[in-house]
Amino acid sequence: MRIDLHTHSTASDGTEAPADVVAAAAAAGLDVVALTDHDTTLGWAPASEAVGRHEVALVPGIEISCQRAGHSIHLLGYLTDPDHAALGAELARARRSRVVRLERMVERMAADGIPISYAEVQAQVPLDATAGRPHIADALVHKGVIAHRDEAFVDWLGSSSPYYVRHYAPDPVAAVRLVLDAGGVPVIAHPFSGTRSGSLPIRLVEEMAAAGLAGLEVGHRDHDVHTQAMAARLAARLGLLVTGSSDYHGSGKRNRLGENTTDPEVLAEIEARATGTPVVRP
Ligand code: AMP
Ligand code: FE
Ligand code: FE
Ligand code: ZN
Repeated sequence: MRIDLHTHSTASDGTEAPADVVAAAAAAGLDVVALTDHDTTLGWAPASEAVGRHEVALVPGIEISCQRAGHSIHLLGYLTDPDHAALGAELARARRSRVVRLERMVERMAADGIPISYAEVQAQVPLDATAGRPHIADALVHKGVIAHRDEAFVDWLGSSSPYYVRHYAPDPVAAVRLVLDAGGVPVIAHPFSGTRSGSLPIRLVEEMAAAGLAGLEVGHRDHDVHTQAMAARLAARLGLLVTGSSDYHGSGKRNRLGENTTDPEVLAEIEARATGTPVVRP
């Protein structure tokens, strides 16, 4: 069984439509794929529909951008109820704030002479999708200013850039509680990713664990072998599940489907704990 529990589609900042992510997962030889778009469940319906045409199971999920004292934490929520009012409202609030935030970032970039307008960015975001910094990068690629998304993050889009603007994001402990309340299973995505602003304080992981956090994503390309060993020890100490994933974004990132995977027993435990929505099987 090959299980990849973290991917993105055009419902957020991936480059392939949800149904195409499912098709690509089947083609990559995966048995199970989770679709975990940023702050939205928009891709669940088309991805679920595609499962019938491919030999791969779908774990509907989300990746919630959270913030605490300047730290950016991404929380994966598996199998949440898509109709949970409070979770839905929180995600909608974040998505609205993301639009305003991108407008401000583009204003700052344009004022500094970078040839970009918000209309050009908007043209890169599919209807109702979660807008993110990668869409600014896509607009610059579309214009021929840069050749690939990565290049825009070097000087312009990173969290230490003068153009960077924050968006509304829930507190990570509140987000853990919300995912649980929605019948889902909360797992911290790439907890020790070096590209995040500052390193995640262990105290915060402990606080999230006390609130009911279920697991840590240990297998991720942003973690080197030493970081993975440290994260696995931390998970064992706190009684947390250990997952692995690709964090696939289509052609938007170099990450390849199935490059890190999750053990079947861990998926079984996630499924056993969830009450929000079922795994979709072919
Ligand atoms: P945002 O959600 O607007 O804060 O943007 C964060 C997203 O940007 C992440 O989910 C990644 O998909 C993407 N990202 C971050 N760093 C890079 C990078 N160096 N190259 C390409 N994409 C990146
Ligand atoms: Fe992303
Ligand atoms: Fe992430
Ligand atoms: Zn992700």
